[in-house]
Order: sequence, then C-alpha cells, then structure tokens
Amino acid sequence: MDMTPPVGPPLWILAELTYRCPLHCAFCYNPVDFARHDQEISTDDWLRVLQQGRALGAVQCGFSGGEPLLRDDLEVLVAEAHRLGYYTNLLTSGVGLTSRRADALKAAGLDHIQLSFQDSTREINDFLSHTRTFELKERVARLIKDNGWPMVMNVVIHRLNIDHIDRIIEMAADLGAEYLELANAQYYAWAQVNRAHLLPTREQVQRAEDVTNAWRQRLGDKMRVFLVVPDYYESRPKKCMNGWGNVFLTVAPDGTVLPCHTARMLPGLEFPKVGEMTLREIWFESEGFNRYRGSSWMKDPCRDCDEREKDWGGCRCQAYMLAGDPAAADPVCAKSPVHQVVEAAVAKAGSVASSEHPLVFRSADQSRRLQRMF
Ligand code: SF4
Ligand code: SF4
Repeated sequence: MDMTPPVGPPLWILAELTYRCPLHCAFCYNPVDFARHDQEISTDDWLRVLQQGRALGAVQCGFSGGEPLLRDDLEVLVAEAHRLGYYTNLLTSGVGLTSRRADALKAAGLDHIQLSFQDSTREINDFLSHTRTFELKERVARLIKDNGWPMVMNVVIHRLNIDHIDRIIEMAADLGAEYLELANAQYYAWAQVNRAHLLPTREQVQRAEDVTNAWRQRLGDKMRVFLVVPDYYESRPKKCMNGWGNVFLTVAPDGTVLPCHTARMLPGLEFPKVGEMTLREIWFESEGFNRYRGSSWMKDPCRDCDEREKDWGGCRCQAYMLAGDPAAADPVCAKSPVHQVVEAAVAKAGSVASSEHPLVFRSADQSRRLQRMF
C-alpha cells in the first residue's frame, strides 16, 4: 500500500550561496564535482528564492556554502530573509567574519551563527582544513558571543579527531558555547572519497559516546552536546532529510533546487533551476521532488517492511553509492541484501595505510581530477 503522506510545505530552506571556500576540508559535504557547477545566481535571483520560499510556507532559512561570507550580498539577503519573517542561520567556517561584517549582519537581523571547528588542537584543525585558521576561529567565537548571538559550535567527527572529543567539549565550554554539535562524518561527497581514513572504529565510537555522556552529566544545562553517531554503526538507516521532499528544500549556488544537497548525483533525475519554474511548482510538481516521496517507489525489502514509515528506506544517495540503485534499501539497513558492503567497511576501519591512499583535500583541482575518474 502506498503510504505517501500529504505533501505539506517545506519548513527549511537551505541557501547554498557559493561552493567557493578558503578551506579544503577532507570531509567537505559539497559535491565532489562542485567545480563543474561554478556558476552563481544573482542577488535578485536569491531575493526571489527567499520571497517564494516564504510564500510557500518556509520558516527557517540557512545560509551556507562553501563559505557564505564570500558573497558580498550576504547582508542584503539576511536583511530580506529577516524582513520576510524567517528565522535565519549562518553556517560558517568563520573566515571573513570581521567585526565590521558581524555588526552589519546583526543590523540585518541575523538570528543565529553556527561556527565550525575541525578539532581542539591547532595542528589537527589546520591539517584537516589545509589552512591556518585555528586562532581565527577562536577570535570569531568571541565575536559571536560579544554580539549576543547564541554560540553554536559544530565539529565534524571522524577517526582523526574522535579521540579528542574530551578536549573538544572542554574547548567549546571554555569558549562559552551554548550548543555543541559533534556530527560524525556521513560518508558522502569528500568524506566518501576519504572514507578509509575517516571512518572510526567501533571502539572509538563507543568511547566517544561514553566521554560525551560523562560531560553531559557534568555540564547540566550550561551547554547542550549533540553527538551524531555514524550511521555505518547502526542497523537501521536514518530518516534522511526527515523524508525526501518533506521538510527541506536546498538551492545550490547555480540555482538548482534539490531535496538535499547531494541529490544531484542521482542518475535519471532532472532538478529544475530557479527561474525555470516557481519554487511552489518545483516543490509540488517536479519529477525530482516527487520521485522518492512516500513509499510507492520502494522495492523489496522496503516495500513490505513495517518500518518503512519510520525511515522511508533511508538515504537515496547512500543507496546509489553503495548498492548502485537509488531505489534500493539504504545498505546501512541490516535487511538490505547488500548490507555486507557496510559491514566490510566497518571491519576495515582503522587498517588503511595512508601512504597507499593519501588523504584527498577538497579543492577545485581535485574536483576536476575526480570528475575525470568517475
Ligand atoms: S566543509 Fe570545509 S571546505 Fe567544505 S564548505 Fe565547509 S569549511 Fe569549506
Ligand atoms: S527494509 Fe527498508 S524500510 Fe525496512 S527498515 Fe530497512 S531501509 Fe527501512
């Protein structure tokens, strides 16, 4: 039976303003072929996106990238989003957040900044981002506090920093963070390219959970700590994006409208650009948004599974990457006929010799090189 829920409006708009970024993170969530999509839509196009999104019912707007501060019109876009009544977030590496720009963003009505760190140590932070940014991030953290924004810190966790979780939490508390998100890398995009280096072992994940729980007891309400475990260590997949075309609408830098920021990798799907259709038409009527809504598209074992409304079959991109079929069950699921590919990756975690497969840092050159390989 088709369990397709009625389609409501998107609640969240993620405005990926640019794929440009001064950092080179080895786990970057931007598409590996980002260099192929280097066009950026204009300020006027973005203003129309914000207006159409709000008319459609969206209430939250996240400005991300790449590094969104590389767009000179960020303050204009934040001001319009604020005027329209969105709750606005800026997701930033901190590079470019000077006190002048912080003042301008405050005046524009920005509600919330999420600042990313790569680690609690200068060495690993700067190594993983391939830039000298650790002290800058500390300065930006203080600037965020001085401007009265809630201090939300995000650290992507993987094998190279997971054993520093204790010090990462301590650093976040010292910098006065109200929220700390310890988001284990999800193995898409650049993290998938570097998975052999980044996937932690089961023991590391367990230790990280124990350390985090001890800190939660100690911190009480002073700082909330979220730890997202890598889904490779679960036996059921996550409810990806809270369901395809259910809550999130992402607009890529070139104006392509996507159900999630990696969906463009899926074969056989066209995603319209802003200007070709309205956001309302794209959300409700486009093939790209409708293909994997609900359950009518499912195959075995999802089709008759009594958990299909819990996770909607997991992640379509992960199904495509690991099973070669975007309509397959997410291989993280123990019921997937190819679940052994996940088990094999977990069994190998920790055993790669880095000289054989050097870590690949995100850059436009590497993006072009990897495009040629796939
Ligand atoms: S993950 Fe790193 S390289 Fe990628 S956009 Fe964020 S800061 Fe830039
Ligand atoms: S078989 Fe499909 S619907 Fe059932 S739990 Fe696994 S991924 Fe979810």
